[in-house]
Amino acid sequence: MRIIETVVAMRSERASLTSPVALVPTLGGLHAGHEALLGAARERAGTVIASLFLNPTQFGENEDLDHYPADRERDLAVMRNAGVDVVFAPSVGEMYPPGDAFTVDPGPIGEILEGAHRHGHLRGVATIVAKLFIATRPDLAYFGEKDAQQLEIVRRMSRNLLFEIEIVPVPTVRDGRGLAMSSRHAYLSEEERSAAEVVYRSLRCAREAWNGGTHGSSALEGVMRTVIEAEPLATLDYAAVVEAATFEPIPEPDSGASVVSRTAALALVAVRIGNTRLIDNVRLD
Ligand code: AMP
Repeated sequence: MRIIETVVAMRSERASLTSPVALVPTLGGLHAGHEALLGAARERAGTVIASLFLNPTQFGENEDLDHYPADRERDLAVMRNAGVDVVFAPSVGEMYPPGDAFTVDPGPIGEILEGAHRHGHLRGVATIVAKLFIATRPDLAYFGEKDAQQLEIVRRMSRNLLFEIEIVPVPTVRDGRGLAMSSRHAYLSEEERSAAEVVYRSLRCAREAWNGGTHGSSALEGVMRTVIEAEPLATLDYAAVVEAATFEPIPEPDSGASVVSRTAALALVAVRIGNTRLIDNVRLD
């Protein structure tokens, strides 16, 4: 496994790699979710590049950039075990040269949900993913469905900015209690970890309501809100139901829009457990 720390070295390495080349971007703090992405990439790609870069522009001022739970040696060991060929681990100065002010704006989808609650976050994500794409020029890039809005933005970016990179989604990996794996679980106390189960429980309740014939977004959002508000350690940032393909609100049942022609919906929640912010989503088919 080669560890590369500069864009220049990455470019020259890229010229000699076996196709197809897959990229798996990570912030570090690797867990079973990241391992699933690396495993899926390993299965299909001739070369797997994993990036290890704690991207400052996707963190807000009062967020956890300074104490993000990433351990470089441990992360490199996980990557080595997963069969990664090349780790791209640049410094902040490599990815954001002095005077850098250019950004990638995802447009309106960057302003809703995560974008509304974490200002600038999705612009920071789009900007760094674009830079990683340019530095590594992958044929395939792997992203988790856990970050559904990020995944949709990366898909659109690949098309709209003509990267033409195949974006491969990987299903959310959960622990035995249903909690979607997250680096931020490291912040949770035992009590908070139990409380965090409310996140997936709220989504399961939305899915049950959907399967039982409740297809209005406000009713489904109400179901999720009620479940989350019953947990004293949880504070709801948002609970939303959108069309999976467009991220537009789904039509209310009495709006006259055809239910039959509707594509799958996505139920999404963002919840704070103490000081730890968790997101999760499920498809409603
Ligand atoms: P991060 O290091 O948190 O930026 O995550 C890197 C990649 O791993 C992103 O594409 C995430 O969507 C994905 N990921 C994070 N958690 C999970 C999970 N529990 N299951 C599947 N993919 C995940």
